[in-house]
Amino acid sequence: QAKRNGGSAYRFFTPAMQSEAARALAMENALRRALERQQFTLAFQPMVDLRSGHVSGVEALLRWRHPELGNVSPAEFIPLAEACGLIDTLGEWALRNAAFQLKAWRDRGLPGLTMAVNLSAMQLQQTQLPALIDDVLREAGLVPSDLELELTEGAAMQDPQHAIAVLQALHERGLRVSIDDFGTGHSSLSYLKRFRAYKLKIDQSFVRDISVDADDRAIVAAIIHMASSLGLQTIAEGVETEAQLRFLRQQGCDEAQGYLFSRPLSATQLEAFVRDLQQP
Ligand code: C2E
Ligand code: MG
Ligand code: MG
Ligand code: MG
Repeated sequence: QAKRNGGSAYRFFTPAMQSEAARALAMENALRRALERQQFTLAFQPMVDLRSGHVSGVEALLRWRHPELGNVSPAEFIPLAEACGLIDTLGEWALRNAAFQLKAWRDRGLPGLTMAVNLSAMQLQQTQLPALIDDVLREAGLVPSDLELELTEGAAMQDPQHAIAVLQALHERGLRVSIDDFGTGHSSLSYLKRFRAYKLKIDQSFVRDISVDADDRAIVAAIIHMASSLGLQTIAEGVETEAQLRFLRQQGCDEAQGYLFSRPLSATQLEAFVRDLQQP
């Protein structure tokens, strides 16, 4: 019995470990099944250009609707997918679907949006990542500048030397990389340059208290000014209030994203949102 269930190590598991292992295995099976049964979808959140007021692009955010568990947050299932080796498959699914969605919007006459896709640190370990992105772009009839790849500052700093090499390869292909959750991951100015970053996404934890916390105001202002002198774009995440928006505008932040403008939307809702906003 023990052997059939997982080899000789199985009998050394304490009851607690068994149930933990069983839970992880159940989750892994659920993730695999979810991929097969197409329980994953993408939600799209607009990014707004603060000068024109137009939607400049959208970020694709993974969603998982489990038949019994309901909606599972990506903050929960992305780490699971990483732990059980499914992140490459899931990440490729997200990339391909996001690319084809952008193409579909274009074909429906929706102008000039870019599509931002999140990359996990583990996808950077995938040696065929640049080639995969090339393939997806070609299949979808897009060019590299249609896509933005978001990598968290923390992920980039896990193995900075490796990240520098991969990001350089992506840069040489004309792909744009945004540093996500910026301000939380302990990078430095010299790394930012070597990461070939194109845009900094200011983490929502700094944006949240802009109106009440002078330190957060100082941090956000410093990030925007530093980015601007380095020739980097800035976008603020998690913008929920007019007061936050006013401060960001004053400081010269390029773009903003957050519930003030829109929650993440379905593809159909996103299209309607863009058309409404872009109406003269
Ligand atoms: P992220 O890339 O930093 O995405 C921003 C998160 O903030 C999203 O959470 C979004 O729904 C949420 N958000 C947007 N505006 C607001 C706001 O005004 N207020 C607040 N409180 N939250 C806001 P979500 O969709 O739950 O995603 C969480 C994280 O999961 C993402 O953070 C990203 O790191 C990861 N993730 C999502 N999709 C993917 C994916 O396809 N691949 C990978 N590797 N990671 C993904
Ligand atoms: Mg992101
Ligand atoms: Mg972020
Ligand atoms: Mg985040």
